[in-house]
Amino acid sequence: SLQDKLNSAFRTLKGKDRISDINVAATTKEVRRALVDADVNFKVAKEITDRIKEKALDRKILISVEPGQMFVKIVQEELTELMGGTAESIDIKGDPAVVLIAGLQGSGKTTFSGKLASMLKKQGRNVLLTACDIYRPAAIEQLKVLGEQIGVEVYSEPENKNAVEIATNAIAHARKTNKKIVIVDTAGRLAVDEVMMQEVEDIKKAVKPTEILFVVDSMTGQDAVNTAKTFNERLNFDGVVLTKLDGDSRGGAALSIRQVVEKPIKFISTGEKMEALDAFHPDRMASRILGMGDVVSLVERAQQAFDEDEAKRINAKMRANKFDFDDFLGQLQQIKKMGNIKDLVGMIPGMGNAMKDLDVDNDSFKPIEAIIQSMTKKERETPTIIDGSRKKRIANGSGTSVQEVNNLLKQFDEMRKMMKKMNTMQMPAAIKSAVR
Ligand code: GDP
Repeated sequence: SLQDKLNSAFRTLKGKDRISDINVAATTKEVRRALVDADVNFKVAKEITDRIKEKALDRKILISVEPGQMFVKIVQEELTELMGGTAESIDIKGDPAVVLIAGLQGSGKTTFSGKLASMLKKQGRNVLLTACDIYRPAAIEQLKVLGEQIGVEVYSEPENKNAVEIATNAIAHARKTNKKIVIVDTAGRLAVDEVMMQEVEDIKKAVKPTEILFVVDSMTGQDAVNTAKTFNERLNFDGVVLTKLDGDSRGGAALSIRQVVEKPIKFISTGEKMEALDAFHPDRMASRILGMGDVVSLVERAQQAFDEDEAKRINAKMRANKFDFDDFLGQLQQIKKMGNIKDLVGMIPGMGNAMKDLDVDNDSFKPIEAIIQSMTKKERETPTIIDGSRKKRIANGSGTSVQEVNNLLKQFDEMRKMMKKMNTMQMPAAIKSAVR
């Protein structure tokens, strides 16, 4: 699968401490292959990976973050940017605003028209749906059923065989009945054909839409890109609606369409139910294409919380066997800055499930922090001076028990012993240089 491919691509990077040290060329090639497998057009995939390669070689990699993850992050950023960066809205200003829906038959036009109407209605707008499919009586019926379900009026003229007339009449009807947005669902064909194209173009000329949306089935892969291109040449549409993303479509079509027709994806449809409509978020789609999920946010958080100088200082103290309670407290606070412990654990691939019953949260640190904060400066630096009466004082001051203070002292002592052992161990040169 795509995920396996990327994982193996990134596996090559693991354990290396600088991206410049690794074979970026081989890795980008793997990424390119993975993108093509996710239905990204080959030319587009090549452009993307060329840019990623440059960025990866260029970027400084923080020592706390695995270069493999950093690489994922670069890829993710690049994909997000290519898909437009942020979510884009539709233009519904006008009296009435007209939203024209075009696309092939079966792409999900009628379903989307209903969803959009429902969404706008929930936002308090007065909407009119219009059935312009003069070839399939069933299509008109389908829209009527949807309209009833969501409580939106559907305009249709079952006897009229002129789609341009129906659309024009619908707008007049909207003005009369004080509807502010008219959604026009047009007829589709199984494949692009001239009569259909001409008809949609004529409707466009007659009703002057404020927004033209092209609906495309994401499962159709490369065909989706070609269809988008043809429709765009005729209609110069404003945005794309990607449907059926609830299936196992990998979303690569989003990237290719955006690159080839240079129009934003505005909505994604993820099911047959009326609620299954979302604004398009480039960052989420990038994650989907990569199949890497939350790894990226984990990297981001680690970067935010990580202080390189502090890490070096702590490292030096550990090696000199001078790690004390003040350093320990500092480390705890660093971890807490990264967010909720449980969330963090859950983001590690494969760990989410295994750790879901684990009873840790940020509050688990509280008694430990309280105990350390009740120590004097001298006690923190030289815990060996903490005798019975000092323990009692610390327990009282921190609202804990002598037993808890004892436990922490014992754990800390073991931790220091462990650090000492690691220092005297014969470390291979490579590891030594990586932790320096
Ligand atoms: P139209 O011919 O373009 O109007 O397409 P329809 O709206 O009739 O949709 C064709 C079929 O796809 C119908 O069975 C819909 O229920 C289904 N469909 C539409 N959108 C989605 C979606 O996002 N996910 C899934 N799973 N099915 C969808």
